[in-house]
Amino acid sequence: MNPTTTMPDTFAARLEHVQSRIREAAQQTGRNPADITLLPVSKTFGEAAIREAMDCGLQRFGENKVQEIVAKQAQLADTPAQWVMIGHLQTNKARDVARYATEIQSLDRLSLATALERRLQAEGRSIDALVQVKTSPEPSKYGLAPEELPGFLREVAQNMPSLRIKGLMTMAINDKNPEAIRACFRLLRQLRDQMREEAIDGIHMEKLSMGMSGDFAIAIEEGATEIRIGTALFGHRPYGDAYYWPESRKPDTENQPDN
Ligand SMILES: *Cc1c(COP(=O)(O)O)cnc(C)c1O
Repeated sequence: MNPTTTMPDTFAARLEHVQSRIREAAQQTGRNPADITLLPVSKTFGEAAIREAMDCGLQRFGENKVQEIVAKQAQLADTPAQWVMIGHLQTNKARDVARYATEIQSLDRLSLATALERRLQAEGRSIDALVQVKTSPEPSKYGLAPEELPGFLREVAQNMPSLRIKGLMTMAINDKNPEAIRACFRLLRQLRDQMREEAIDGIHMEKLSMGMSGDFAIAIEEGATEIRIGTALFGHRPYGDAYYWPESRKPDTENQPDN
């Protein structure tokens, strides 16, 4: 153990610790831990840290800035690393996601879906996508409003064959009260179940990507099929998130028109 934090020193030990907490949370609610996928979030961490994670058997990495995906896929071109976009994406950067990501979990508006579809067709590729839903009233959180979901899914199903919708993603409210966090996760699961009942052709509604280092046990209790873990695996990021993603604190104007 590192004396200044309670975090184990090696990636392997931190991974083992997170996996045992996943097993515990799953067992508490009678779920099979094998039904919960761990997405390591490598944002701000460099090539060496990612190679250490790959030595432990991990291959998919979540990033929330497309510039980091572009840089890291080049540095790790000799490996089978796969890149999952989980952050807010400006429409004018859709090309790099279409080119380098295997998946996007932050599909949050029609203008972005349209831009991605066009770029994916140009690249001759298709990618898995989760629709990010806004489940909390915080102004800093991106995502489609729940009531926009059915119309959005129909539009993608009809016109965007390169986007394979697999489910939903959310970020819970930043709140000390675990019940406020739980309510966000529960809402996402209910929306997933409702959208499943609509049975829109070409839309798969299995996945629920929800839960981060601070709240993943609650997310697992509420049905998460995938949790996105940065800090608990890679360690603390040297500055607060607002330093790296100032845009995540105040939605930009580019995002406004179709919200
Ligand atoms: C950074 C980030 C995470 C991981 O957060 P941690 O608290 O470090 O585990 C998960 N999801 C998204 C969208 C993120 O940007």
